[in-house]
Amino acid sequence: MAGSIEIAKGVVSRVRAAWPPSWRWGAVLALACLCFPAAAPAQDGRHYMVSGWTMADGLPHNLVHALAQDRDGFIWAGTWEGVVRFNGRQFTVFDRQNTPGAELSGVFCILAEADGGVLFGTAADGVFRYHQGRWQHLGEAAARRLPVTALLRDADGSLWIASARRLLRMDAAGRIREVGGDAGLPDGRVNALARGDGGAVLVATDAGAFRLHDGRASPWAREWAAATAVRGIAADGAGGWLLATDDGVYWRDGAGRVTHLQAGRRVDTVLRDAVGAIWMSLSSSSGELLRHAGDGDERLAIAGPVSPALLADREGLIWSGSTDGLHRVAEVAAVGFTRADGLRSDYVRVVLQSEDRSLWIGHADGLERWHERRMQPVRLGSGNGRDPSVLALAWRDGTLWAGTYGQGVFRLDAQGRVQERIRLDGRGEPIVRALLADADGGLWIGGTHGLSHYRNGQLQLRLDSKGQPSAVVQALYRDNDGTLWIGTTGGMAALGADGTLRTWDAEDEIPAQYVFDFLRDAGGDLWIASDRGLLRMREGTFRVYDHRHGLPRDKLFRIIDDQAGNLWLPSNIGVFRIARKELDQIDAGTRRQLAVHVVDHSDGMPGNQGNGASMPAGWRASNGALAFPTSAGLGLVDPRIAGRYDGKASPVVFESVSVDGVAQAQAGRLRLEPGARRLAVDYAALNFRAPDKMRYRYRLHGFDAAWVEAGTGTEAVYTNLPPGQYRLEVQAMALPLDWARLPEVGAATLELEVVPPLWKRTSSRVLAGLLLVAAVVLGFWLRTASYRRSQRRLNRVIAARTEELSDKNRALELAGIERDRLLQQLEHQATHDVLTGLPNRRAAEIHLRQALEDAGRDGEPLSVALIDIDHFKRINDRLGHEGGDHVLRDVAGLLRQHLDGDLFVSRHGGEEFLAVLRGLTLEQATERLQSLRLALARQRMDAVDPGLVVTASIGVAERGPDQDSPRTLLAAADRQLYRAKREGRNRVCG
Ligand code: GH3
Ligand code: MG
Ligand code: MG
Repeated sequence: MAGSIEIAKGVVSRVRAAWPPSWRWGAVLALACLCFPAAAPAQDGRHYMVSGWTMADGLPHNLVHALAQDRDGFIWAGTWEGVVRFNGRQFTVFDRQNTPGAELSGVFCILAEADGGVLFGTAADGVFRYHQGRWQHLGEAAARRLPVTALLRDADGSLWIASARRLLRMDAAGRIREVGGDAGLPDGRVNALARGDGGAVLVATDAGAFRLHDGRASPWAREWAAATAVRGIAADGAGGWLLATDDGVYWRDGAGRVTHLQAGRRVDTVLRDAVGAIWMSLSSSSGELLRHAGDGDERLAIAGPVSPALLADREGLIWSGSTDGLHRVAEVAAVGFTRADGLRSDYVRVVLQSEDRSLWIGHADGLERWHERRMQPVRLGSGNGRDPSVLALAWRDGTLWAGTYGQGVFRLDAQGRVQERIRLDGRGEPIVRALLADADGGLWIGGTHGLSHYRNGQLQLRLDSKGQPSAVVQALYRDNDGTLWIGTTGGMAALGADGTLRTWDAEDEIPAQYVFDFLRDAGGDLWIASDRGLLRMREGTFRVYDHRHGLPRDKLFRIIDDQAGNLWLPSNIGVFRIARKELDQIDAGTRRQLAVHVVDHSDGMPGNQGNGASMPAGWRASNGALAFPTSAGLGLVDPRIAGRYDGKASPVVFESVSVDGVAQAQAGRLRLEPGARRLAVDYAALNFRAPDKMRYRYRLHGFDAAWVEAGTGTEAVYTNLPPGQYRLEVQAMALPLDWARLPEVGAATLELEVVPPLWKRTSSRVLAGLLLVAAVVLGFWLRTASYRRSQRRLNRVIAARTEELSDKNRALELAGIERDRLLQQLEHQATHDVLTGLPNRRAAEIHLRQALEDAGRDGEPLSVALIDIDHFKRINDRLGHEGGDHVLRDVAGLLRQHLDGDLFVSRHGGEEFLAVLRGLTLEQATERLQSLRLALARQRMDAVDPGLVVTASIGVAERGPDQDSPRTLLAAADRQLYRAKREGRNRVCG
């Protein structure tokens, strides 16, 4: 839909943020203070992003009445059709339809309790309680039919329930008692409840606020607040109180000072957040959320009238409910300029600020000037044709130069009026990518033609793109000693003040291909933004800072110093901030990884993809704001705010645990009965500010030898776990990832036990053996006894009897054989995988250990391979678990066919197989596996799904001095497997 954006990029969820009108409002407000403080009204320079979620994103209803954050950190929202639990990315709905025991529809209030439980007050069904996956309907029959408007747990454990005009109290046994009139409360609607001091309960009613203590009600706050209807009461967190009334907000702070805000207006809810700002939701026809701090009020528009639901969460985010869903207000570091602000194109390439504080913005459809809070188009073309794409800007002494795509360079005056147009080549005009204006009036023009110099109407070609350096010029930089640095698509060059040219060829003389920008330090170092990371040239040698040091991307377009110790580098996935100090520490060897802070979409940037090979691809404005062109608009970053929220661990929770598709209760230790095949655990880190920046890893202690890096994945699956005790540990961390920074790592663990099957327990084996022996003995005894009787009675037919006896003996023999067969079958079951019939992991371990021993003794080569089906999850997702099983059986069949003759192959777990290739060197093994891989990739599994083709990635390793135990050898094969995956799958690596 128009105006909606996708914040979450993962496959797991989509978050729809409502841009107009809310986001726009935040943006305009922020730009006003960020860029033009002189002209801006009194603001404290904060920028907000309002994101919204509606039924389209998974809410059961668009009217959100109530909000709360539980002890674990989940956000709960009560709607007209049940409640939802939110983890930042997904909503889990609990309603009449899907949750037995929670027949809740309209939820008016939510109370999160200290023990982790959550209470829900409903429109007509009393109170429900949720605790550790279980639901409970509170109270006796009468209590279960109450309309509930507010809930409070008081200091001695009773539950207070506001029910329209009545106030009730429920004791531990679920009995309710009316408090109201007897205590002296006036007749009027109870709107809200709060814990007062000294064990008192504060009651907000249509007839003012009251304090209930020892069963007596007395008027409260009359000395400092008007006696009007009170909608909400909140402690201010510093010994004071806030009242939301029909005559605005009355705030009496801890020192007794009274402030009256929004006088004359009805305020439904009020709260004071962790930084001391007061948030108010106002009843009006359009959604209105107000923030009051210091000297001013800020208005944040929310789509749809707001409801009383207002929450400040533990991350400092403000949540608000409205008739149009759930909204989150986040202070963000960046805002954007887009077409909605008057840009003719969102594809912004260059930006520059002139002395009059105009911001000149060059993009795919021309040039705009942002001046005195207005966007003015600058006309370059004559007539009504389209303006050319602007890729380069330069400013000097009241003159603006604009370089274009194929239409030369324009000279404009300070108001943006074209004065002159310079053509570089009458026939095929080049693309101008870089401009540099000198004090003497000269202009350097770089682009696809090379480098030209223009002065007083004279144009001179200084470097030819066909000569040396034979490349496109895309960056120009004037050093303080007069040197002109030239960045090209094939290295760089320097033109000395004396006219001498020195070049650095790509790869040979400079460790990069493309050079995008330069920055000279006072100390003499030259910083270079390149396609191979950030380079530092010091005394003629280069140092490289790239992905090996934690840079999320190597291609960097611009270097801006924020004058606060950081370099800012736009890339294709957001803008990176790196502390200079950390770069020095890398040089000194005291640090290995850079803590790169990334500012991207989740921080308010219009887009993540930066634009380079144009100049300037970023600008530091006079007030310190940093402007960066992106493919979706111009981003403006307030460097003071970026990173303010970094460095905190997010709590990790288990969303759901299922065994063979059946959900498990989540309290205590998990027990898997014999025969349980598939354990699936969904987990989440509760980070509501930037859920997309969360990365995960997990490890099943007792099973996994190392951590499983899950990336953004939030599910751990284990199949056919052998009996034993395990502990699943999940860790989460926000980017930049460095698991060694422990304070920033959130974690959760789950204890579990896989119970051995009956026949595998020692006790049952002994018993079975004894029973078998007893049965044989008994049978024998019975039979011989009958023989004796027969002998006595039928002496005459001894001969016939003797023959019969020999028959019975034969039968006994057969029973013995049957017993042996049974034992063999049991043995087979213990060592083979049921699904594929291949040896299982346990059998493979025994085989591999033996094979290694043999190979060591005989000096024979030995290789092992791990074969992992590619994208198997998708197969499961598409064809169901049954289909997946079918594929596993088919693949196993193929493996057996190809390898089993002389080699050993087993099911290693899940969709992974292990092959032990005795007598084969790495080379021989690789060859054999290549043919296996090809055979698999050629096989059509029509029986599963017409046309289905499955591929696998294979990691091979050969026994060697450091790889002579099952563990080390398998680890080596696993590394190769990982490499095969990384290099694109369907390949053999060794
Ligand atoms: P990649 O190519 O990166 O290895 O992707 P993938 O999807 O194959 O790998 P991933 O490890 O993410 O998923 C493996 C999936 O295999 C997860 C689980 O659902 C599925 N799986 C594991 N054991 C069984 C099984 O016995 N039967 C079926 N049908 N699926 C299984
Ligand atoms: Mg796989
Ligand atoms: Mg796998």
